[in-house]
Amino acid sequence: MALQPAPLSAMELIAAEPVRLVHGRKAVCDGGIGPLGHPKIYINLDKPGPKPCGYCGIRFEQAPHHGHEH
Ligand SMILES: [Zn+2]
Repeated sequence: MALQPAPLSAMELIAAEPVRLVHGRKAVCDGGIGPLGHPKIYINLDKPGPKPCGYCGIRFEQAPHHGHEH
């Protein structure tokens, strides 16, 4: 059996995706159009740091706040 060349994996594609800053505490992701499309889900951004979408792996992070919220 010959080794098959590995297709470009989704993870490699995602590594090239910048983190998407979201104003608000929830991101909405449906993967966009094309092969990464998936049912719309909401991603909780309450905690700091980027959060990957469980379907397509695009990362979202809450945009820095301006003003005084604390
Ligand atoms: Zn997604």
